[in-house]
Amino acid sequence: MSGFPRILQLFNSRWRGWGQLLVTGCLLLVLTACTATPSADASEAELAAILAQLPDPTPLTGEPNPFKTPPVPRNLPPTRATAVGPVCQAMQPAIGREAYSMANFRPEIRSAWAHPTNFGDRAAVDRNGQPVDNRISLIVLHETVASADSAINFFQTPHPRDEDQASYHALIRRNGTIVYTVPPDKRAFGAGSSSFRGESVRFNAKLPGSVNNFALHVSLESPRDGRDNRRRHSGYTARQYDSLALIVQQWMTGYTIPGDRITTHAAVDQSGSRMDPRSFQWQRLAQRLQLLNEGTIPGCADPDVGAGSSL
Ligand SMILES: [Zn+2]
Repeated sequence: MSGFPRILQLFNSRWRGWGQLLVTGCLLLVLTACTATPSADASEAELAAILAQLPDPTPLTGEPNPFKTPPVPRNLPPTRATAVGPVCQAMQPAIGREAYSMANFRPEIRSAWAHPTNFGDRAAVDRNGQPVDNRISLIVLHETVASADSAINFFQTPHPRDEDQASYHALIRRNGTIVYTVPPDKRAFGAGSSSFRGESVRFNAKLPGSVNNFALHVSLESPRDGRDNRRRHSGYTARQYDSLALIVQQWMTGYTIPGDRITTHAAVDQSGSRMDPRSFQWQRLAQRLQLLNEGTIPGCADPDVGAGSSL
């Protein structure tokens, strides 16, 4: 294993606190160009120019986390390399030019904590008192459909009834600003009736099982032409993909989540009503994750050499 991913792993295993994750985000930004694999799309001169423009390694700041619950140490076994999963399938042998835009980008980081009725603890037992594996092991992508501000307002409104509660761990505005809304060690209510490869946990006799107990949820703010129920819209900004890659990279490293366990609300939904995130381009996320991991994505098999980049 090469240097920088190893450094990130060590950094995360030693400093697992919430605030430290934000600092890790800064580190990732600084390391972006360093971990890039030179390709046909970016000459060494271009890479040097990117490096010269990197920002000072000042830690990114956000509002302090009011909950301060220390994450439970995870000791997941290393996963077998596999090509299963959409982000693995979207990997390319060469890193596309757009992914290098991350090197010049420092996302603004904010927090707008959800009301405590809209999230809970990661429970150790299900509704029948049976022990369940509550280790964080899945990343679920969403879109807000409404504006980011509407979603935040909803999360900050008390919802005493279980069926009204909803939240994500983070959302990403159109300009790439990251807004954290639920601490990652807590259970956000991002996917109601849901299952991932048969994994689902049920807590309420009146409600179906869900992936929330072991999932992290992140949502992209929809474009204006996506604030309805049509199947497609104009998609997400490059800055949104940049910030999404940084969050996903932090979570993959911090919680040992392999690439084949990145999924969507549409894929885990059991109600038949969810399509999000619509118009999502997996290749744009895959390319950025490859840039942060020396051309590969942990938990995915290496891309076929010679297929060519089409980003
Ligand atoms: Zn969703």
